[in-house]
Amino acid sequence: MRQSQLFLATARETPSEADVVSHQLMLRAGLVRQFTSGVYSFLPLGWRVLQKVENIVRQEMDAAGAQEVLLPIVQTEDIWERSGRSEVYGEDMFRLQDRHKRNMVLGPTHEEVITLLVRQEVRSYRQLPVTLYQIQTKFRDEARPRAGLLRGREFRMKDAYSFDADALGLDSSYQAMYAAYCRIFERIGIEYRAVEADPGAIGGEGGTHEFMVLSEAGEDNVVSCSRCSYSANVEKASGQALTADREPTALDKVRIETGSATTIDQLSKFLQVDPSQIVKVLVYIADGVPLAVCVRGDHEVNEVKLKNVLGVSAVELASAEEVKEHVGLPIGFVGPIVSMRTIVDRDVLTVTDGVAACESEGYHEVHVLPGRDFPTDEIFDVRNVTEGDLCPKCGAPLLFQRGIEVGHVFKLGTRYSDVFETLYKDADGVDRTILMGCYGLGTSRIVAAIVEQCHDEDGIVWPMTVAPFQVHVVPVNIKDEEQSRAAVEFYTRLRAAGVDALLDDREERPGVKFKDADLLGMPLRITVGNKIRDGLVELKYRRSGHVDTLAVQQAFDAVLAMVK
Ligand SMILES: [Zn+2]
Repeated sequence: MRQSQLFLATARETPSEADVVSHQLMLRAGLVRQFTSGVYSFLPLGWRVLQKVENIVRQEMDAAGAQEVLLPIVQTEDIWERSGRSEVYGEDMFRLQDRHKRNMVLGPTHEEVITLLVRQEVRSYRQLPVTLYQIQTKFRDEARPRAGLLRGREFRMKDAYSFDADALGLDSSYQAMYAAYCRIFERIGIEYRAVEADPGAIGGEGGTHEFMVLSEAGEDNVVSCSRCSYSANVEKASGQALTADREPTALDKVRIETGSATTIDQLSKFLQVDPSQIVKVLVYIADGVPLAVCVRGDHEVNEVKLKNVLGVSAVELASAEEVKEHVGLPIGFVGPIVSMRTIVDRDVLTVTDGVAACESEGYHEVHVLPGRDFPTDEIFDVRNVTEGDLCPKCGAPLLFQRGIEVGHVFKLGTRYSDVFETLYKDADGVDRTILMGCYGLGTSRIVAAIVEQCHDEDGIVWPMTVAPFQVHVVPVNIKDEEQSRAAVEFYTRLRAAGVDALLDDREERPGVKFKDADLLGMPLRITVGNKIRDGLVELKYRRSGHVDTLAVQQAFDAVLAMVK
């Protein structure tokens, strides 16, 4: 491609509407343009990157045995009502009416549509297993679209769905998709984590993993082991149980006046005790029933873990009024012996000389011991991991990083096949319910995530496999006949060898061309300047900034070796 003909306008200034780096750089480099809030046009360079990402995804899906289909964007609302998800999505779904006043939606995802399709087509166990996928535009009417392509209202996704006869089959379909995702991110060349996640509201039993691209711009916290492959999101992450570092106190508990000190911070200062020795009691309402939860003062309750331990559909921290109603005390004075079911976090057992509220305003008890002074019948891990916690698998320290969620693999089980009565006949002719998995990958979000991870102060630094062009050929002065001829020849030879090359044939000052080249971020740059008289060109590596001065043929061979 000749740059003089490229539909592209680069910008020096950072656009004011963009708050994250990927959005700024993608606008400045002319990859995308916003049409309206959360809706973007891809310009030629951006489209080339997206297609390269999607081609890698397509190749790995095909290699994993999945078959590509294309499902309708326009869907009837009744199937969403049947699955119960019309209400779940609520205003997040784009809704419309056709000319017959029938309610329709623009698909945010395709579980309903594909389950109905498979229900029609699959009759026998002989047709299973099957995994179908598509790469398509999806819609979600986000309340606050932000961060450019990271959270848009119209976006590109690969979504795959597996259908199996039994749990063993589902396991293997899931593993095949998991492995394909790992290969996709390795081929793209970005740092990622496959993190254990909580199955959440989508339903279904068994495993689920989120694929996160590590980046400070991410909205999610990723907990990873500093030594082994353990990785989980904060909702799911669990450290090793802590051990007490002191003998339990031999003193009996004593009630002392603590005045207006109620928060952990105030109590810790007032009583000169470490927050880890304070027993914090919180009142929750679980499916309408109040209960108490004890954690150490330096820990926070993890409501997802609590919900799973209790096996309820919702837990919510009780309001001051609800605490007053159920316990008869202001929030800060609820102690560990309350006349209701009490869940104790397992690390409360490391309290050896504790402080706790004692159901009396203005007082606390000291020298409190769990088990001795309050019951510890129901012990679970119900807290968030924190800095200093150790890996549950190998005991090395856990690290906390930010991540952008770009993919998700999920065992749905019979969540949708139950609703849509998706059955197959087994070898004995008995009807059985098909087991499903779903596997999403946000391809336009991956493009933004790559830019978040791969850039420096001068611009984008594309990995070779997804760069819009692999090599940028830049003659310093296009009006110099010798430079121009050598540059065009180099560019033509690259193209003949199957390399994606961009030739900057514009009549611009060298400084402008070099700045644009850095901003656009092709991995390799061939600069043809005055040294061409001695048969030499410069090969610049965008990532390291390193420059080699090489004979033309040497440079050509070096480029070919790196591109292949
Ligand atoms: Zn580990």
